Amino acid sequence: MDNSVAFKRDNLTILGKKFVPFIRSKEITKRIKFIAKEIRNDYKGKIPVFVVILKGAIFFAAELLKNINIPLRVETLKAKSYGNSMQSSGKVDLFVTGEDFAGKDLIIVEDIIDTGLTISTIIDKLSSYKPNSLEIATLLMKPKNLRCDLRVKYCGFEIPEKFVIGYGLDFAEFGRNLKDIYILE
Ligand code: 5GP
Repeated sequence: MDNSVAFKRDNLTILGKKFVPFIRSKEITKRIKFIAKEIRNDYKGKIPVFVVILKGAIFFAAELLKNINIPLRVETLKAKSYGNSMQSSGKVDLFVTGEDFAGKDLIIVEDIIDTGLTISTIIDKLSSYKPNSLEIATLLMKPKNLRCDLRVKYCGFEIPEKFVIGYGLDFAEFGRNLKDIYILE
């Protein structure tokens, strides 16, 4: 088994899989700032609660929340669905911080929506707290893989049905710290 991990800017190999640059950090930051502005305008006069999905969404959430200059709260939710594989299992366990969500304006912050099964389970769980509103902010989305009816209000980039890493997204826990997003060659 090839268990080497080599990070070079344009040539990345993780456990025998090759990844190539896909979205550069400059473009990512620019897009996130745009979404932050939209959210700031949409939630003026409210105190939204951002529920950040661990671990993948932490980089996206950090950049997003820094740029929303209104009072807000942050909670986290751990959704375990993937393990080390590249395919969605559809099985999800949820662990959430804070439960004071009744009557609140919630925004789920996710790294990527693939089939949509993970986020649907999260929506079911958060809806059970009876929030005032519930929206989704995702950095990436693979619309062609979507298997449920989802209304995504804030989306960074729509991408093809290929595996990506970087900017919080991992392959076998490697690659989260990459500034750019890379795609499987
Ligand atoms: P879904 O339930 O929408 O099929 O999958 C959502 C989860 O699968 C994401 O939160 C992420 O953990 C993982 N995932 C889906 N596609 C990718 C991908 O291209 N790269 C990585 N690193 N994770 C992915």
